[in-house]
Amino acid sequence: MAESRGVKPGPEPADRVVIGVTFGNSNSSIAFTVDDKAEVIANEDGDRQIPTALSYVDGDEYYGAQAKAFLVRNPNNTVAYFREFLGKEFKSIDPTHCHAAAHPQDTAGSVSFSVEDKGGEDEASSVSVSEASTRFLRRLVTSASEYLGKTVTSAVVSVPTNFNDKQREALIKAANDAGLEVLQLISDPVAAVLAYDARPEAVVEDKMIVVADLGGTRSDVAVVASRGGMYTILATAHDYEFSGVHLDQVLMDHFAKEFIKKHSTDPRSNPRSLAKLRQEAEATKKALSLGSNAQFSVESLADGFDFSSTINRIRYETIGRKVFEGFNRLVEGVVKKAGLDVLDVSEVIMCGGTSHTPRIANNLRGIFPESTDILAPATSVTAINPSELQARGAALQASLIQEYEAADIEQSTHPCVTTVKHIANAIGVIAVGPSGEDVFTPIMQAETAAPARRIVHIAAPKAGGDVLIKVVEGGTHIKVTKPEPKAKDAVENGDDDSDLDSDEEEEEEKREKVWKIGTPLAEAAIRGVKKGGKVEVTVNVAADLSVTITAREVGSKGGVRGNLAA
Ligand code: ATP
Repeated sequence: MAESRGVKPGPEPADRVVIGVTFGNSNSSIAFTVDDKAEVIANEDGDRQIPTALSYVDGDEYYGAQAKAFLVRNPNNTVAYFREFLGKEFKSIDPTHCHAAAHPQDTAGSVSFSVEDKGGEDEASSVSVSEASTRFLRRLVTSASEYLGKTVTSAVVSVPTNFNDKQREALIKAANDAGLEVLQLISDPVAAVLAYDARPEAVVEDKMIVVADLGGTRSDVAVVASRGGMYTILATAHDYEFSGVHLDQVLMDHFAKEFIKKHSTDPRSNPRSLAKLRQEAEATKKALSLGSNAQFSVESLADGFDFSSTINRIRYETIGRKVFEGFNRLVEGVVKKAGLDVLDVSEVIMCGGTSHTPRIANNLRGIFPESTDILAPATSVTAINPSELQARGAALQASLIQEYEAADIEQSTHPCVTTVKHIANAIGVIAVGPSGEDVFTPIMQAETAAPARRIVHIAAPKAGGDVLIKVVEGGTHIKVTKPEPKAKDAVENGDDDSDLDSDEEEEEEKREKVWKIGTPLAEAAIRGVKKGGKVEVTVNVAADLSVTITAREVGSKGGVRGNLAA
Protein backbone atom coordinates (compact mmCIF):
# COMPACT_ATOMS: atom_id res chain seq x y z
CA MET A 1 0.00 0.00 0.00
CA ALA A 2 1.28 3.44 -0.85
CA GLU A 3 0.92 5.70 2.16
CA SER A 4 2.61 8.95 3.01
CA ARG A 5 1.98 12.54 4.09
CA GLY A 6 -1.61 11.90 5.06
CA VAL A 7 -2.45 10.46 1.65
CA LYS A 8 -5.14 7.82 2.01
CA PRO A 9 -3.85 4.34 1.31
CA GLY A 10 -4.67 3.46 -2.26
CA PRO A 11 -3.79 0.65 -4.62
CA GLU A 12 -0.25 0.16 -5.88
CA PRO A 13 0.26 2.04 -9.15
CA ALA A 14 0.50 -1.21 -11.11
CA ASP A 15 -2.87 -2.38 -9.79
CA ARG A 16 -4.75 0.77 -10.62
CA VAL A 17 -7.66 0.91 -13.08
CA VAL A 18 -8.24 4.59 -13.75
CA ILE A 19 -11.03 6.73 -15.16
CA GLY A 20 -11.80 10.42 -15.58
CA VAL A 21 -14.89 11.76 -13.85
CA THR A 22 -16.94 14.92 -14.06
CA PHE A 23 -19.41 15.27 -11.27
CA GLY A 24 -21.79 18.12 -12.14
CA ASN A 25 -24.91 19.45 -10.50
CA SER A 26 -26.99 18.41 -13.47
CA ASN A 27 -24.98 15.62 -15.11
CA SER A 28 -21.92 13.51 -14.56
CA SER A 29 -19.72 11.57 -16.98
CA ILE A 30 -17.09 8.87 -16.81
CA ALA A 31 -14.32 8.32 -19.36
CA PHE A 32 -11.34 6.06 -19.90
CA THR A 33 -8.43 5.99 -22.30
CA VAL A 34 -7.55 3.38 -24.85
CA ASP A 35 -4.37 3.81 -26.92
CA ASP A 36 -4.03 7.38 -25.61
CA LYS A 37 -7.51 8.24 -26.86
CA ALA A 38 -10.19 9.17 -24.36
CA GLU A 39 -13.67 7.75 -24.64
CA VAL A 40 -16.76 8.54 -22.62
CA ILE A 41 -18.48 5.49 -21.18
CA ALA A 42 -22.20 4.88 -21.63
CA ASN A 43 -23.85 3.53 -18.49
CA GLU A 44 -26.30 0.60 -18.45
CA ASP A 45 -29.10 2.94 -19.65
CA GLY A 46 -26.93 3.94 -22.62
CA ASP A 47 -26.32 7.46 -21.26
CA ARG A 48 -23.02 9.29 -21.55
CA GLN A 49 -24.39 12.32 -19.74
CA ILE A 50 -25.70 10.74 -16.59
CA PRO A 51 -28.12 12.93 -14.62
CA THR A 52 -26.71 13.53 -11.13
CA ALA A 53 -29.73 12.18 -9.29
CA LEU A 54 -30.70 9.34 -6.95
CA SER A 55 -34.24 8.19 -6.34
CA TYR A 56 -35.64 5.68 -3.85
CA VAL A 57 -38.73 3.59 -4.53
CA ASP A 58 -39.70 0.71 -2.20
CA GLY A 59 -36.15 0.52 -0.92
CA ASP A 60 -34.62 0.31 -4.39
CA GLU A 61 -32.10 2.90 -5.47
CA TYR A 62 -32.31 4.35 -8.99
CA TYR A 63 -29.71 6.69 -10.42
CA GLY A 64 -29.13 8.78 -13.53
CA ALA A 65 -31.90 9.23 -16.10
CA GLN A 66 -34.20 6.80 -14.26
CA ALA A 67 -33.90 8.82 -11.06
CA LYS A 68 -34.41 12.09 -12.94
CA ALA A 69 -37.64 10.72 -14.44
CA PHE A 70 -38.88 10.11 -10.88
CA LEU A 71 -38.86 13.88 -10.28
CA VAL A 72 -42.41 13.75 -11.68
CA ARG A 73 -43.85 10.90 -9.59
CA ASN A 74 -41.56 10.66 -6.59
CA PRO A 75 -39.95 14.08 -6.04
CA ASN A 76 -39.68 13.87 -2.24
CA ASN A 77 -37.52 10.74 -2.44
CA THR A 78 -35.39 11.99 -5.29
CA VAL A 79 -32.13 13.77 -4.53
CA ALA A 80 -30.92 16.05 -7.34
CA TYR A 81 -28.71 19.11 -7.90
CA PHE A 82 -26.65 18.39 -4.77
CA ARG A 83 -23.01 18.53 -5.95
CA GLU A 84 -22.98 22.27 -5.33
CA PHE A 85 -23.70 21.69 -1.60
CA LEU A 86 -20.67 19.46 -0.94
CA GLY A 87 -18.34 20.99 1.64
CA LYS A 88 -20.72 23.85 2.36
CA GLU A 89 -22.67 24.83 5.43
CA PHE A 90 -26.43 24.87 5.26
CA LYS A 91 -26.60 28.61 5.72
CA SER A 92 -24.50 29.30 2.64
CA ILE A 93 -26.35 27.17 0.07
CA ASP A 94 -28.88 28.21 -2.52
CA PRO A 95 -31.57 25.50 -2.55
CA THR A 96 -33.49 26.93 -5.58
CA HIS A 97 -32.90 23.99 -7.88
CA CYS A 98 -34.05 21.46 -5.30
CA HIS A 99 -37.54 22.94 -5.18
CA ALA A 100 -38.99 20.09 -7.15
CA ALA A 101 -36.88 17.39 -5.46
CA ALA A 102 -36.00 16.34 -1.88
CA HIS A 103 -35.39 19.58 0.04
CA PRO A 104 -32.02 20.21 1.63
CA GLN A 105 -32.26 20.29 5.42
CA ASP A 106 -30.19 21.81 8.16
CA THR A 107 -28.57 19.02 10.19
CA ALA A 108 -26.39 20.68 12.82
CA GLY A 109 -25.33 23.28 10.29
CA SER A 110 -24.59 20.87 7.46
CA VAL A 111 -26.80 19.84 4.55
CA SER A 112 -28.81 16.63 4.37
CA PHE A 113 -31.91 15.22 2.69
CA SER A 114 -34.74 13.28 4.26
CA VAL A 115 -35.65 10.35 2.00
CA GLU A 116 -37.41 7.02 2.45
CA ASP A 117 -34.51 4.96 1.19
CA LYS A 118 -35.25 1.74 3.11
CA GLY A 119 -38.73 0.97 1.80
CA GLY A 120 -41.47 -0.72 3.79
CA GLU A 121 -42.84 1.07 6.80
CA ASP A 122 -39.45 2.44 7.85
CA GLU A 123 -39.14 6.08 8.67
CA ALA A 124 -37.32 8.39 6.33
CA SER A 125 -33.56 8.54 6.84
CA SER A 126 -31.41 11.59 6.85
CA VAL A 127 -28.88 11.34 4.04
CA SER A 128 -26.05 13.86 4.18
CA VAL A 129 -24.77 15.50 1.00
CA SER A 130 -21.55 13.62 1.51
CA GLU A 131 -23.41 10.30 1.73
CA ALA A 132 -25.56 11.15 -1.33
CA SER A 133 -22.37 11.97 -3.26
CA THR A 134 -20.75 8.72 -2.13
CA ARG A 135 -23.80 6.70 -3.21
CA PHE A 136 -23.92 8.43 -6.58
CA LEU A 137 -20.16 8.12 -7.21
CA ARG A 138 -20.38 4.44 -6.25
CA ARG A 139 -22.99 3.96 -8.99
CA LEU A 140 -20.75 5.74 -11.50
CA VAL A 141 -17.79 3.56 -10.54
CA THR A 142 -19.93 0.42 -10.81
CA SER A 143 -21.12 1.43 -14.28
CA ALA A 144 -17.54 2.12 -15.36
CA SER A 145 -16.29 -1.17 -13.87
CA GLU A 146 -19.01 -3.15 -15.63
CA TYR A 147 -18.23 -1.45 -18.92
CA LEU A 148 -14.49 -2.02 -18.62
CA GLY A 149 -14.84 -5.53 -17.22
CA LYS A 150 -12.52 -4.75 -14.29
CA THR A 151 -12.89 -2.93 -11.00
CA VAL A 152 -12.14 0.75 -11.28
CA THR A 153 -9.90 1.87 -8.42
CA SER A 154 -8.86 5.45 -9.09
CA ALA A 155 -9.85 8.63 -10.86
CA VAL A 156 -8.97 12.15 -11.81
CA VAL A 157 -12.00 14.32 -11.12
CA SER A 158 -12.56 17.72 -12.70
CA VAL A 159 -13.93 20.53 -10.53
CA PRO A 160 -14.88 24.19 -11.04
CA THR A 161 -12.07 26.72 -10.59
CA ASN A 162 -13.86 28.28 -7.62
CA PHE A 163 -14.04 25.03 -5.64
CA ASN A 164 -12.44 25.89 -2.28
CA ASP A 165 -10.35 23.64 -0.04
CA LYS A 166 -13.35 22.48 2.00
CA GLN A 167 -15.24 21.49 -1.14
CA ARG A 168 -12.17 19.67 -2.45
CA GLU A 169 -11.72 17.79 0.80
CA ALA A 170 -15.41 16.90 0.91
CA LEU A 171 -15.32 15.60 -2.65
CA ILE A 172 -12.21 13.51 -2.02
CA LYS A 173 -13.78 12.06 1.13
CA ALA A 174 -17.05 11.25 -0.66
CA ALA A 175 -15.08 9.51 -3.43
CA ASN A 176 -12.85 7.61 -0.98
CA ASP A 177 -15.95 6.42 0.88
CA ALA A 178 -17.22 5.08 -2.46
CA GLY A 179 -13.97 3.08 -2.74
CA LEU A 180 -12.47 5.45 -5.30
CA GLU A 181 -8.95 6.82 -4.94
CA VAL A 182 -8.74 10.41 -6.21
CA LEU A 183 -5.42 10.77 -7.99
CA GLN A 184 -5.92 14.46 -8.63
CA LEU A 185 -8.59 17.13 -8.89
CA ILE A 186 -8.07 19.16 -12.04
CA SER A 187 -9.91 22.31 -12.96
CA ASP A 188 -12.77 22.06 -15.43
CA PRO A 189 -11.39 24.50 -18.03
CA VAL A 190 -7.97 22.85 -18.04
CA ALA A 191 -9.63 19.45 -18.53
CA ALA A 192 -11.44 20.85 -21.57
CA VAL A 193 -8.21 22.28 -23.01
CA LEU A 194 -6.42 18.95 -22.42
CA ALA A 195 -9.13 17.11 -24.37
CA TYR A 196 -8.53 19.36 -27.39
CA ASP A 197 -4.73 19.40 -27.08
CA ALA A 198 -4.63 15.59 -26.96
CA ARG A 199 -6.03 15.25 -30.46
CA PRO A 200 -3.38 13.83 -32.79
CA GLU A 201 -3.74 16.79 -35.17
CA ALA A 202 -3.37 19.36 -32.37
CA VAL A 203 -0.37 21.66 -32.56
CA VAL A 204 0.77 22.69 -29.13
CA GLU A 205 1.52 26.38 -29.58
CA ASP A 206 1.36 29.50 -27.48
CA LYS A 207 -2.23 30.66 -27.51
CA MET A 208 -4.86 32.39 -25.45
CA ILE A 209 -7.99 30.31 -24.91
CA VAL A 210 -11.40 31.16 -23.53
CA VAL A 211 -13.24 28.18 -22.07
CA ALA A 212 -16.98 28.78 -21.82
CA ASP A 213 -18.46 26.02 -19.68
CA LEU A 214 -22.21 26.43 -19.91
CA GLY A 215 -23.99 23.88 -17.78
CA GLY A 216 -27.42 23.31 -16.34
CA THR A 217 -27.36 25.41 -13.18
CA ARG A 218 -24.20 27.46 -13.61
CA SER A 219 -21.95 28.93 -16.25
CA ASP A 220 -18.22 29.21 -15.73
CA VAL A 221 -15.92 31.05 -18.07
CA ALA A 222 -12.13 31.06 -17.88
CA VAL A 223 -9.31 32.64 -19.84
CA VAL A 224 -6.41 30.21 -20.10
CA ALA A 225 -2.93 31.08 -21.38
CA SER A 226 -1.34 28.07 -23.05
CA ARG A 227 2.43 28.53 -23.17
CA GLY A 228 4.66 25.70 -24.32
CA GLY A 229 2.10 23.14 -23.15
CA MET A 230 1.67 24.76 -19.72
CA TYR A 231 -1.67 26.23 -18.79
CA THR A 232 -2.29 29.28 -16.64
CA ILE A 233 -5.74 30.51 -15.70
CA LEU A 234 -5.72 34.30 -16.03
CA ALA A 235 -9.30 35.16 -15.13
CA THR A 236 -12.57 33.42 -14.34
CA ALA A 237 -16.24 34.25 -13.95
CA HIS A 238 -19.00 32.16 -12.38
CA ASP A 239 -22.62 32.84 -13.03
CA TYR A 240 -25.82 31.32 -11.73
CA GLU A 241 -28.30 33.54 -13.63
CA PHE A 242 -27.60 32.39 -17.15
CA SER A 243 -27.50 28.65 -17.70
CA GLY A 244 -29.43 25.71 -19.12
CA VAL A 245 -32.28 25.81 -16.59
CA HIS A 246 -32.96 29.44 -17.53
CA LEU A 247 -33.48 28.40 -21.14
CA ASP A 248 -35.79 25.61 -19.92
CA GLN A 249 -37.73 28.26 -18.00
CA VAL A 250 -38.19 30.38 -21.13
CA LEU A 251 -39.80 27.41 -22.90
CA MET A 252 -41.82 26.43 -19.83
CA ASP A 253 -43.33 29.91 -19.65
CA HIS A 254 -44.00 29.93 -23.37
CA PHE A 255 -45.90 26.63 -23.38
CA ALA A 256 -47.63 27.36 -20.07
CA LYS A 257 -49.09 30.51 -21.62
CA GLU A 258 -50.32 28.55 -24.65
CA PHE A 259 -51.87 25.98 -22.33
CA ILE A 260 -53.59 28.69 -20.26
CA LYS A 261 -55.09 30.19 -23.43
CA LYS A 262 -56.57 26.81 -24.35
CA HIS A 263 -57.62 25.44 -20.98
CA SER A 264 -57.66 28.42 -18.60
CA THR A 265 -55.44 26.66 -16.10
CA ASP A 266 -51.76 27.24 -15.32
CA PRO A 267 -49.70 24.03 -15.40
CA ARG A 268 -47.05 25.83 -13.30
CA SER A 269 -49.41 25.99 -10.34
CA ASN A 270 -49.17 22.34 -9.25
CA PRO A 271 -45.89 20.52 -8.65
CA ARG A 272 -46.61 17.47 -10.78
CA SER A 273 -47.65 19.47 -13.85
CA LEU A 274 -44.68 21.74 -13.32
CA ALA A 275 -42.31 18.76 -13.25
CA LYS A 276 -43.80 17.40 -16.49
CA LEU A 277 -43.58 20.84 -18.09
CA ARG A 278 -39.93 21.11 -17.05
CA GLN A 279 -38.90 17.71 -18.42
CA GLU A 280 -40.59 18.25 -21.76
CA ALA A 281 -39.25 21.82 -22.05
CA GLU A 282 -35.72 20.46 -21.65
CA ALA A 283 -36.32 17.80 -24.31
CA THR A 284 -37.74 20.44 -26.69
CA LYS A 285 -34.76 22.71 -26.01
CA LYS A 286 -32.33 19.91 -26.91
CA ALA A 287 -34.29 19.12 -30.08
CA LEU A 288 -34.01 22.79 -31.09
CA SER A 289 -30.22 22.48 -30.98
CA LEU A 290 -30.43 19.95 -33.77
CA GLY A 291 -33.41 20.95 -35.88
CA SER A 292 -35.20 24.14 -36.82
CA ASN A 293 -38.51 22.88 -35.38
CA ALA A 294 -39.39 20.90 -32.30
CA GLN A 295 -42.42 19.22 -30.77
CA PHE A 296 -43.66 19.74 -27.24
CA SER A 297 -46.03 17.06 -26.17
CA VAL A 298 -47.19 15.95 -22.70
CA GLU A 299 -49.91 13.52 -21.77
CA SER A 300 -52.24 14.80 -19.08
CA LEU A 301 -50.23 17.97 -18.47
CA ALA A 302 -52.78 19.51 -16.07
CA ASP A 303 -56.43 18.89 -15.14
CA GLY A 304 -56.31 15.76 -17.29
CA PHE A 305 -55.69 17.70 -20.52
CA ASP A 306 -53.09 16.41 -22.94
CA PHE A 307 -51.06 19.12 -24.59
CA SER A 308 -49.16 19.21 -27.83
CA SER A 309 -47.55 22.08 -29.66
CA THR A 310 -44.55 22.99 -31.80
CA ILE A 311 -42.00 25.76 -31.79
CA ASN A 312 -39.40 26.83 -34.33
CA ARG A 313 -35.86 27.89 -33.60
CA ILE A 314 -36.38 31.51 -34.58
CA ARG A 315 -39.20 31.88 -32.08
CA TYR A 316 -37.14 30.17 -29.39
CA GLU A 317 -34.21 32.47 -30.05
CA THR A 318 -36.51 35.49 -29.82
CA ILE A 319 -38.13 34.54 -26.54
CA GLY A 320 -34.79 33.48 -25.07
CA ARG A 321 -32.93 36.60 -26.16
CA LYS A 322 -32.29 37.92 -22.67
CA VAL A 323 -30.65 34.69 -21.57
CA PHE A 324 -28.61 34.45 -24.78
CA GLU A 325 -27.39 38.00 -24.29
CA GLY A 326 -26.41 37.09 -20.73
CA PHE A 327 -23.97 34.47 -22.08
CA ASN A 328 -22.41 37.09 -24.39
CA ARG A 329 -21.87 39.52 -21.55
CA LEU A 330 -20.39 36.83 -19.37
CA VAL A 331 -17.79 35.86 -21.97
CA GLU A 332 -16.95 39.45 -22.90
CA GLY A 333 -16.63 40.34 -19.22
CA VAL A 334 -14.06 37.67 -18.45
CA VAL A 335 -11.90 38.58 -21.47
CA LYS A 336 -11.86 42.13 -20.16
CA LYS A 337 -11.15 40.94 -16.63
CA ALA A 338 -8.04 39.18 -17.96
CA GLY A 339 -6.92 42.53 -19.38
CA LEU A 340 -7.31 41.23 -22.91
CA ASP A 341 -9.17 42.12 -26.05
CA VAL A 342 -11.16 39.67 -28.15
CA LEU A 343 -8.37 40.00 -30.74
CA ASP A 344 -5.97 38.32 -28.29
CA VAL A 345 -8.05 35.15 -28.13
CA SER A 346 -7.10 32.32 -30.50
CA GLU A 347 -9.73 29.81 -29.44
CA VAL A 348 -13.02 29.70 -27.63
CA ILE A 349 -13.66 26.19 -26.34
CA MET A 350 -17.32 25.70 -25.64
CA CYS A 351 -18.14 22.96 -23.19
CA GLY A 352 -21.04 21.89 -21.00
CA GLY A 353 -24.41 20.73 -22.32
CA THR A 354 -25.77 24.21 -23.03
CA SER A 355 -22.89 24.80 -25.47
CA HIS A 356 -24.79 22.63 -27.96
CA THR A 357 -27.12 25.59 -28.50
CA PRO A 358 -26.41 27.06 -31.95
CA ARG A 359 -27.52 30.61 -31.02
CA ILE A 360 -24.93 30.88 -28.25
CA ALA A 361 -22.07 29.71 -30.47
CA ASN A 362 -23.22 31.97 -33.32
CA ASN A 363 -23.40 34.96 -30.99
CA LEU A 364 -19.82 34.32 -29.86
CA ARG A 365 -18.84 33.98 -33.52
CA GLY A 366 -20.13 37.54 -33.93
CA ILE A 367 -18.20 38.87 -30.93
CA PHE A 368 -14.79 37.42 -31.74
CA PRO A 369 -12.74 38.19 -34.86
CA GLU A 370 -12.57 35.68 -37.70
CA SER A 371 -9.11 34.61 -36.57
CA THR A 372 -10.61 33.13 -33.38
CA ASP A 373 -11.82 29.53 -33.63
CA ILE A 374 -15.16 29.05 -31.89
CA LEU A 375 -15.06 25.35 -31.02
CA ALA A 376 -18.72 24.35 -30.78
CA PRO A 377 -20.83 21.99 -32.90
CA ALA A 378 -22.64 24.90 -34.59
CA THR A 379 -19.50 26.77 -35.63
CA SER A 380 -16.82 24.14 -36.19
CA VAL A 381 -16.96 20.78 -37.92
CA THR A 382 -14.03 19.52 -35.88
CA ALA A 383 -15.50 20.47 -32.48
CA ILE A 384 -15.55 17.73 -29.84
CA ASN A 385 -18.92 17.06 -28.17
CA PRO A 386 -19.07 19.84 -25.53
CA SER A 387 -20.71 17.49 -23.03
CA GLU A 388 -17.75 15.10 -23.17
CA LEU A 389 -14.76 17.41 -22.98
CA GLN A 390 -14.14 17.49 -19.26
CA ALA A 391 -14.51 13.78 -18.66
CA ARG A 392 -12.15 13.11 -21.56
CA GLY A 393 -9.60 15.60 -20.23
CA ALA A 394 -9.80 14.05 -16.78
CA ALA A 395 -9.32 10.55 -18.24
CA LEU A 396 -6.26 11.68 -20.22
CA GLN A 397 -4.75 13.20 -17.10
CA ALA A 398 -5.53 10.01 -15.16
CA SER A 399 -3.73 7.87 -17.70
CA LEU A 400 -0.73 10.21 -17.56
CA ILE A 401 -0.27 10.05 -13.81
CA GLN A 402 -1.53 6.59 -12.95
CA GLU A 403 1.94 5.07 -12.79
CA TYR A 404 3.11 7.34 -10.01
CA GLU A 405 2.92 6.68 -6.29
CA ALA A 406 0.10 8.59 -4.59
CA ALA A 407 2.60 10.58 -2.49
CA ASP A 408 4.57 11.63 -5.58
CA ILE A 409 1.40 12.81 -7.31
CA GLU A 410 0.40 14.74 -4.22
CA GLN A 411 3.82 16.37 -4.05
CA SER A 412 4.08 17.28 -7.70
CA THR A 413 0.55 18.66 -7.90
CA HIS A 414 0.82 20.63 -4.67
CA PRO A 415 -0.02 24.33 -5.20
CA CYS A 416 3.49 25.41 -4.15
CA VAL A 417 4.85 23.37 -7.05
CA THR A 418 2.19 24.14 -9.63
CA THR A 419 1.84 27.82 -8.80
CA VAL A 420 4.87 29.18 -10.58
CA LYS A 421 5.85 32.70 -11.54
CA HIS A 422 4.93 34.11 -14.93
CA ILE A 423 6.46 36.86 -16.99
CA ALA A 424 4.14 39.86 -17.12
CA ASN A 425 5.14 41.19 -20.54
CA ALA A 426 6.23 39.55 -23.73
CA ILE A 427 9.96 39.51 -24.51
CA GLY A 428 11.06 40.05 -28.08
CA VAL A 429 13.61 41.58 -30.42
CA ILE A 430 13.49 44.75 -32.44
CA ALA A 431 14.48 44.57 -36.03
CA VAL A 432 14.38 47.29 -38.62
CA GLY A 433 11.37 47.10 -40.92
CA PRO A 434 11.23 47.75 -44.68
CA SER A 435 10.71 51.47 -44.27
CA GLY A 436 13.32 51.84 -41.56
CA GLU A 437 10.88 51.61 -38.66
CA ASP A 438 11.40 49.45 -35.57
CA VAL A 439 9.48 46.15 -35.74
CA PHE A 440 8.90 44.04 -32.65
CA THR A 441 9.09 40.26 -33.02
CA PRO A 442 7.92 38.36 -29.93
CA ILE A 443 10.16 35.57 -28.66
CA MET A 444 8.31 34.73 -25.45
CA GLN A 445 4.65 35.59 -24.90
CA ALA A 446 3.35 37.33 -21.79
CA GLU A 447 2.11 34.92 -19.10
CA THR A 448 4.73 32.30 -19.97
CA ALA A 449 5.43 30.25 -16.86
CA ALA A 450 9.01 30.34 -15.60
CA PRO A 451 11.42 28.66 -16.03
CA ALA A 452 11.21 28.88 -19.80
CA ARG A 453 13.52 29.08 -22.79
CA ARG A 454 12.78 30.21 -26.34
CA ILE A 455 15.04 30.53 -29.36
CA VAL A 456 14.53 32.60 -32.53
CA HIS A 457 16.56 33.05 -35.68
CA ILE A 458 16.76 36.52 -37.14
CA ALA A 459 17.88 37.06 -40.70
CA ALA A 460 20.86 39.38 -41.08
CA PRO A 461 20.80 42.00 -43.86
CA LYS A 462 21.28 40.32 -47.28
CA ALA A 463 24.80 41.61 -47.68
CA GLY A 464 25.77 40.42 -44.19
CA GLY A 465 27.80 42.61 -41.85
CA ASP A 466 27.20 43.82 -38.32
CA VAL A 467 23.82 43.04 -36.77
CA LEU A 468 22.49 44.97 -33.80
CA ILE A 469 20.06 42.98 -31.67
CA LYS A 470 17.84 44.86 -29.28
CA VAL A 471 15.89 42.76 -26.81
CA VAL A 472 12.92 44.53 -25.26
CA GLU A 473 9.71 43.89 -23.38
CA GLY A 474 6.59 44.20 -25.44
CA GLY A 475 2.94 44.85 -24.78
CA THR A 476 0.00 44.89 -27.12
CA HIS A 477 -2.63 47.42 -27.78
CA ILE A 478 -5.57 47.52 -30.10
CA LYS A 479 -5.28 49.88 -33.01
CA VAL A 480 -8.61 51.16 -34.22
CA THR A 481 -8.78 52.58 -37.72
CA LYS A 482 -11.91 54.53 -38.46
CA PRO A 483 -12.97 54.38 -42.09
CA GLU A 484 -12.63 57.50 -44.19
CA PRO A 485 -16.00 59.25 -44.34
CA LYS A 486 -17.43 58.61 -47.77
CA ALA A 487 -18.18 61.60 -50.02
CA LYS A 488 -21.88 62.40 -49.65
CA ASP A 489 -22.78 62.57 -53.34
CA ALA A 490 -21.14 59.19 -53.98
CA VAL A 491 -23.75 57.67 -51.68
CA GLU A 492 -26.57 59.68 -53.18
CA ASN A 493 -25.72 58.62 -56.74
CA GLY A 494 -25.70 54.90 -56.10
CA ASP A 495 -28.75 52.66 -56.35
CA ASP A 496 -30.76 51.98 -53.20
CA ASP A 497 -29.49 48.52 -52.30
CA SER A 498 -25.85 49.24 -52.68
CA ASP A 499 -26.31 52.38 -50.60
CA LEU A 500 -27.51 50.30 -47.74
CA ASP A 501 -24.66 47.85 -48.02
CA SER A 502 -21.97 50.47 -48.27
CA ASP A 503 -23.47 52.39 -45.37
CA GLU A 504 -23.20 49.32 -43.20
CA GLU A 505 -19.67 48.61 -44.30
CA GLU A 506 -18.74 52.21 -43.71
CA GLU A 507 -19.63 51.99 -40.07
CA GLU A 508 -17.31 49.08 -39.45
CA GLU A 509 -14.04 50.21 -37.99
CA LYS A 510 -10.92 48.12 -38.33
CA ARG A 511 -9.46 46.78 -35.10
CA GLU A 512 -6.10 45.10 -35.01
CA LYS A 513 -3.66 43.99 -32.38
CA VAL A 514 -0.33 45.78 -32.61
CA TRP A 515 2.80 45.47 -30.54
CA LYS A 516 3.97 48.31 -28.39
CA ILE A 517 7.70 48.38 -27.68
CA GLY A 518 8.38 48.54 -23.95
CA THR A 519 11.42 48.61 -21.66
CA PRO A 520 14.73 47.70 -23.34
CA LEU A 521 16.35 44.66 -21.74
CA ALA A 522 19.60 44.21 -23.65
CA GLU A 523 21.54 45.14 -26.77
CA ALA A 524 24.12 43.05 -28.52
CA ALA A 525 26.18 43.62 -31.64
CA ILE A 526 27.15 40.58 -33.66
CA ARG A 527 29.97 41.59 -35.94
CA GLY A 528 30.68 40.40 -39.45
CA VAL A 529 27.72 38.12 -40.02
CA LYS A 530 28.11 36.13 -43.26
CA LYS A 531 26.10 37.02 -46.36
CA GLY A 532 22.61 35.52 -45.97
CA GLY A 533 23.47 34.53 -42.39
CA LYS A 534 21.24 34.37 -39.38
CA VAL A 535 21.54 35.40 -35.78
CA GLU A 536 20.19 33.12 -33.09
CA VAL A 537 18.76 34.78 -30.00
CA THR A 538 18.03 32.67 -26.91
CA VAL A 539 15.95 34.00 -24.06
CA ASN A 540 16.15 32.06 -20.82
CA VAL A 541 13.89 33.02 -17.95
CA ALA A 542 14.80 31.33 -14.68
CA ALA A 543 12.30 30.33 -11.99
CA ASP A 544 13.05 33.58 -10.10
CA LEU A 545 12.29 35.53 -13.32
CA SER A 546 15.92 36.52 -13.92
CA VAL A 547 16.65 36.63 -17.65
CA THR A 548 19.66 35.43 -19.61
CA ILE A 549 19.94 36.47 -23.23
CA THR A 550 22.41 34.94 -25.65
CA ALA A 551 23.00 36.06 -29.24
CA ARG A 552 25.30 34.41 -31.78
CA GLU A 553 25.63 33.85 -35.46
CA VAL A 554 24.04 30.56 -36.50
CA GLY A 555 26.81 28.06 -37.18
CA SER A 556 29.52 30.04 -35.45
CA LYS A 557 31.08 29.54 -32.08
CA GLY A 558 31.00 32.05 -29.25
CA GLY A 559 28.53 34.90 -29.12
CA VAL A 560 27.32 37.47 -26.66
CA ARG A 561 25.66 36.65 -23.38
CA GLY A 562 24.07 38.87 -20.76
CA ASN A 563 22.24 38.41 -17.47
CA LEU A 564 19.45 40.48 -16.00
CA ALA A 565 18.27 40.16 -12.43
CA ALA A 566 14.58 39.49 -11.82
P1 ATP B 1 -24.21 22.33 -13.76
O1 ATP B 1 -23.15 21.82 -12.84
O2 ATP B 1 -24.01 23.74 -14.24
O3 ATP B 1 -25.59 22.14 -13.27
P2 ATP B 1 -23.46 20.13 -15.43
O4 ATP B 1 -22.03 20.38 -15.71
O5 ATP B 1 -23.80 19.17 -14.38
O6 ATP B 1 -24.15 21.53 -15.12
P3 ATP B 1 -24.01 19.70 -18.24
O7 ATP B 1 -24.32 18.33 -18.71
O8 ATP B 1 -22.73 20.33 -18.63
O9 ATP B 1 -24.25 19.67 -16.69
O10 ATP B 1 -25.18 20.69 -18.70
C1 ATP B 1 -26.50 20.36 -18.53
C2 ATP B 1 -27.34 21.36 -19.29
O11 ATP B 1 -27.10 21.25 -20.68
C3 ATP B 1 -28.83 21.10 -19.09
O12 ATP B 1 -29.50 22.32 -18.91
C4 ATP B 1 -29.22 20.45 -20.40
O13 ATP B 1 -30.58 20.69 -20.72
C5 ATP B 1 -28.31 21.18 -21.36
N1 ATP B 1 -28.16 20.44 -22.62
C6 ATP B 1 -27.71 19.17 -22.79
N2 ATP B 1 -27.73 18.84 -24.10
C7 ATP B 1 -28.18 19.93 -24.76
C8 ATP B 1 -28.44 20.21 -26.14
N3 ATP B 1 -28.23 19.28 -27.08
N4 ATP B 1 -28.90 21.44 -26.46
C9 ATP B 1 -29.11 22.38 -25.51
N5 ATP B 1 -28.92 22.17 -24.19
C10 ATP B 1 -28.45 20.96 -23.82
